[in-house]
Amino acid sequence: MHLQTPLLNYINGQWYVSHATQCLPVVNPATTQHIARVPLSPKSEVDFAAVAAATAFTSWRRTPPTARVQYLFKLKSLLEQQLEELARTITIECGKTFAESKAELERAIENVEVACGIPTLMQGYNLEDVARGIDEIMIRQPLGVTAIIAPFNFPGMIPFWFLPYAIATGNTCIVKPSEKVPLTMQRIFELLEATGLPKGVVNLVNGAKDVVDAILEHPQIRAVSFVGSSPVAQYVYSKGAAFGKRMQCQGGAKNPLIVLPDADMEMTTRIAADSAFGCAGQRCLAASVAVTVGEARHTFTEAIATAAETKVVGYGLDEGVEMGPVITRESQTRIEGLIQQGVDEGATLLIDGRQAKIPGYEKGNFIRPTILQNVNPNSTVAQTEIFGPVLSLMHLATIEEAIALVNSNHWGNMACLFTSSGAAARQFRYEAEAGNIGINIGVAAPMAFFPFSGWKDSFYGDLHGQGRHAVEFFTQTKVVVERWPKDWSRQF
Ligand code: NAD
Repeated sequence: MHLQTPLLNYINGQWYVSHATQCLPVVNPATTQHIARVPLSPKSEVDFAAVAAATAFTSWRRTPPTARVQYLFKLKSLLEQQLEELARTITIECGKTFAESKAELERAIENVEVACGIPTLMQGYNLEDVARGIDEIMIRQPLGVTAIIAPFNFPGMIPFWFLPYAIATGNTCIVKPSEKVPLTMQRIFELLEATGLPKGVVNLVNGAKDVVDAILEHPQIRAVSFVGSSPVAQYVYSKGAAFGKRMQCQGGAKNPLIVLPDADMEMTTRIAADSAFGCAGQRCLAASVAVTVGEARHTFTEAIATAAETKVVGYGLDEGVEMGPVITRESQTRIEGLIQQGVDEGATLLIDGRQAKIPGYEKGNFIRPTILQNVNPNSTVAQTEIFGPVLSLMHLATIEEAIALVNSNHWGNMACLFTSSGAAARQFRYEAEAGNIGINIGVAAPMAFFPFSGWKDSFYGDLHGQGRHAVEFFTQTKVVVERWPKDWSRQF
């Protein structure tokens, strides 16, 4: 990679150097080395991509679904062949471990597999004789040009919650990756190009807020899929809707994990530690609050402290490393500040992971797993998305109190319960106000054939990413009511 040459945009089947007047460095968060430069593309390049995508739409929507999915079968095969190389790229720009990067790509591939079922998934329905001699048919048609705006934490997976469904249903598409991790999509677009997709069907425009605003304002873009923090999700949702677009915006989270006294404590702790500290806590499905109920308090607290202390932290490409750095120095400073705020608000530091120095990577953005104990549910630290390897512990007397705490959360991405009681599990599943529920599961990530169901401030819109929801999001329904009187047909 030549550091002088900025990353390229891919528009209308060709790679272009952006006319951007400004570039940002792409930084390896473990070494803080600059590994590339990403252009902050101007509005005119979004326009170029939207016009190319609108032109491509005319013939792409007429391409039979069975032919469209052949490109996705090729893509699946290319992604599998390049999986290790892509995973290395994710670790280098995003910091997570190599195993975590491979797992994320497997999730991306699963979405390609589901979208290959479009000839079945996209079918409408019909009824003969809705009135005497009259038939009614519902068909699904693509929207046109769609756009995807992605966050930094899953550079390979998140665009795939949308892209395979968008193009399989006959839309064309523009992707804007996070400016912090643009390398992975650059590589994946090389694979999309290698599938032979017609020009203009998929387009890549690098950049930041200006590109997002240009997408939201563009009259030829019909629908936008966004994933990122809640304040930006809310902004993108409102602005896109004001410009008449179909919107789905997935936001931030503060996920509680409830531990009942009858839980299998060894399994619970192992799973809770992975949920809280995996990907350095930078998952929108990371557990960030663990609530022990009754007698669970002592056993869980001791075991989770041991799990946190023994996590091997380091560079994600090194053998045996279990947790990598956080994305930027600013994130590190922000997270360490929130830990201090927790202490100032009365919590005690059971494990303090601040100022971590990893031999060989002293400049990296590392924070070791951190646990705050006796966190007040009304404190700022209990209400703020930390997005780092920090677990807050709280204690309550009953499951009813724990569910009330879950439901007081203004986010609703995920809530998990650890128990061996079916009745408690059912009560939780029924009453907890979150879109993704884990029962003895710590990262309740829906598989590709289920919707990624955030609620409340974790989601703005109606139809989520993945599976049938994605098929509905990327299609508009048309109803045909028809009558064919017999004597008319005799005239021909
Ligand atoms: P972010 O909101 O900072 O950025 C997301 C995208 O929005 C990026 O492409 C960025 O360029 C763009 N953007 C940033 N600020 C903008 C602004 N002011 N106006 C217009 N566009 C802007 O999010 P991030 O830090 O990249 O990602 C982490 C966040 O994403 C966390 O809050 C996490 O919970 C959330 N997330 C949610 C899900 C989910 O499914 N709900 C999944 C992954 C991540």
